[in-house]
Amino acid sequence: MKIEQLEVRYIIPKLINPFPLGEVNGKPRIVGPARDMIALQAQTTEGYLGWGTIDTLPFPFYNPEWTEGAWELLQRVGPNVVGVEFFDPQEIVDALGPIVGHNIFKAGFANLFFDASAQINGVPLYSLVGGSRRPVEVGISIPKSASQDDIRKQIAQGFRRIKVKVGPLQDDLEKIALIRNANPDVMLMVDANSSFDHGNPEHMRLLRKFAELDLLMIEQPLAPDDIRHHIALQQKFDREGIPGRVCLDESIETLDQLEQAIEGGIPIINIKIARVGGLHVAKQMIDRAQSEGVATWIGGMLEPTPSKAHSLAMATHPGVTLPSDISGTKAYFVEGDDPVTEPMEREGAVIKIREVPGRGWDIDQVKLKEITAKQVVFEKK
Ligand SMILES: [Mg+2]
Repeated sequence: MKIEQLEVRYIIPKLINPFPLGEVNGKPRIVGPARDMIALQAQTTEGYLGWGTIDTLPFPFYNPEWTEGAWELLQRVGPNVVGVEFFDPQEIVDALGPIVGHNIFKAGFANLFFDASAQINGVPLYSLVGGSRRPVEVGISIPKSASQDDIRKQIAQGFRRIKVKVGPLQDDLEKIALIRNANPDVMLMVDANSSFDHGNPEHMRLLRKFAELDLLMIEQPLAPDDIRHHIALQQKFDREGIPGRVCLDESIETLDQLEQAIEGGIPIINIKIARVGGLHVAKQMIDRAQSEGVATWIGGMLEPTPSKAHSLAMATHPGVTLPSDISGTKAYFVEGDDPVTEPMEREGAVIKIREVPGRGWDIDQVKLKEITAKQVVFEKK
């Protein structure tokens, strides 16, 4: 694939509801209502338009990347990928320069490569990432304030997996216990987004109590850079016969970190394509986890639908054995702010992959223009 022209846009779609990641040290982390990110569109020599997004958040509270920083970096390294022939996704990432970390930034370019390659080769994207035609089962996230009635409605819609964001609070534990008791058959999970401190005995007591509820998983309770204590926690659950399952999200950015988690007995990994650096890395991680009997599912970064289509393709991989976090189009963005021509529809808890060349959902250039704050075009010299 060769890029003749690369158009980059700083876009600000608005979220219907701000998305809280939970508090750390008493400080809230809330995404939105403005969801700043960067859209990449590459015109290839064959005349196709490849799509990718840099799904950074507006502030570095999920990982060290953030959108203003990514935009500055892009002005320096974006021109490096124009006018060069690329044969695999790592080549385009390497062409950006010797960049340490910045996986979300790199993923934008790797995914752009896959997106364009699928179109050029006339094949569905899933076929390039080890996927198949199977429909993708998805779960739902509900706020902890949701009533039993709200939860019953979600179950009636067909969702088998329900996720609730929690913090190190007795109140959160009691809410989850109520949901568990009222819905014993649902796959109930909690996501703590690193809000528990392994050195705090009260936090560790609460984690044990959450584990005793026999949840599908406790996602990322401890700090992002602390695989060690996550492993120790899982081993303690196993040793003491507590049905707790630790899932890692923020902690897994590289294949080496994945190996550490697998070796230590972590049973579940949330794979976010942006967090790990692109579809090619996500595929390697899922292949590896599958070969070791470790379950995976696909998480999201509140990305627009054309990028969710990338996640959907990845979620058709046979190693993805748990319901993924891929919502339909209307779930997050205010009307008109999601730059897609046709919505991604859910049927119950299932989204069907489209059997067409490329990602399957087209860009709405008019909507894209309306959410653009600034734009730069890099041309071949
Ligand atoms: Mg998470």
